[in-house]
Amino acid sequence: MSKSNPEFKVPLSSPDLTDLERQAALDVLQTPNLSMGPEYQAFEQAVAEYVGAKHAIAVSSGTSGLHLCVRAAGIQPGDLVLTTPFSFMASTNVILYEKAIPVFVDAEPETGNIDPARLAQAADDLAAGSAAAQKWLPRKGAEKHGPLKALLPVDVFGQPPEMDAIRQVAEKHNLVIIEDSCEALGSTYQGHPAGMLGDMGVFAFYPNKQITTAEGGLVVTNNDAYADMMRALRNQGRAPGDTWLQHSYLGYNYRMDELSAALGRVQMTRIDELLDKRAQVAAWYAERLAELPMVELPQVVPSTSKMAWFVYVIRVAADLDRDAVIHQMAEKGIPARPYFAPIHLQLYMMDMFGYQPGDYPVTEDLGNRGIAIPFSSVMTEAQVETVCQVLAEVLHAAG
Ligand SMILES: *Cc1c(COP(=O)(O)O)cnc(C)c1O
Repeated sequence: MSKSNPEFKVPLSSPDLTDLERQAALDVLQTPNLSMGPEYQAFEQAVAEYVGAKHAIAVSSGTSGLHLCVRAAGIQPGDLVLTTPFSFMASTNVILYEKAIPVFVDAEPETGNIDPARLAQAADDLAAGSAAAQKWLPRKGAEKHGPLKALLPVDVFGQPPEMDAIRQVAEKHNLVIIEDSCEALGSTYQGHPAGMLGDMGVFAFYPNKQITTAEGGLVVTNNDAYADMMRALRNQGRAPGDTWLQHSYLGYNYRMDELSAALGRVQMTRIDELLDKRAQVAAWYAERLAELPMVELPQVVPSTSKMAWFVYVIRVAADLDRDAVIHQMAEKGIPARPYFAPIHLQLYMMDMFGYQPGDYPVTEDLGNRGIAIPFSSVMTEAQVETVCQVLAEVLHAAG
């Protein structure tokens, strides 16, 4: 998302770093602790306190954090996990890493989040088995499958889905909830922090996210057993008490380094400022784009008691050529991107599971009409103005 082209007048995304972060990284380089030192622990503690989690486990990326959750939940090859095709593909890939089967439930149109009514129906039908289950399963690749084990909802663009309804589904069918909050650090649902709405939640810190550690991620949970397992698995499977060359489990090197943790620790001291600035940029956009025909603006639903803006994704009218709009914006110096691309229509997903266009119509519609326009906490009002002017010109010419 954050690749900048020197010809562009405004970057698509940008980290927000100060001399505080730079000094903290330099300070780490004055010490022998480049991994698993004090910054690591301080960063974990800062995020744990911020969201009210008993455990925070810093890792090398959001994707590795999600993978640890899948492992900690005990998901086995062939097990079913209900999730959404309207996401960044990592949320599905981590299920595939364990040879489990992602079963998709389409999004609801307003937020792009997983549709809770469809999710409830899918869980009931999968639990009932046979014919009822069949209509939720992919055309191929799930001939032999295990039980439904987990739900993996995503806080799309920073906004949590209908978690009360999702938790009811989990309770009814005894399922683990893994919340992909990689776009939602700082958001709340009915007053409760994103990431803490299921059994385990994952944040990501790639440079376009609300805070950055360069690369990095972090898992939060109140569950001691999950936390112990994830701490072991991120560190080559070393259980508490194992020596450096003793590995109780098949693990990974998913550790976060000290330089990243130092950046994250300082960014957490600035989180209110960073989120306020993002909200200001979103408000500038909303003000200027409100009158523009042929464009729908992102909606914050009432259950989102605080919105931590991640991206600003507008939707153009269905009869407009979205890709041409993006192309013409680029020609006028403004980067923009489709966001998201439906997961079920990625080549390897169509190969593995036989998915076809039309399978998840809401996801495809959102995928066809969405445009992420430049967005970051360092954007100025003048830059927002430039983006809006170019967008208006391009839409005027297209309409
Ligand atoms: C950013 C993101 C991730 C994981 O990101 P990494 O690049 O692995 O840190 C996962 N899911 C969603 C929805 C994301 O936006």
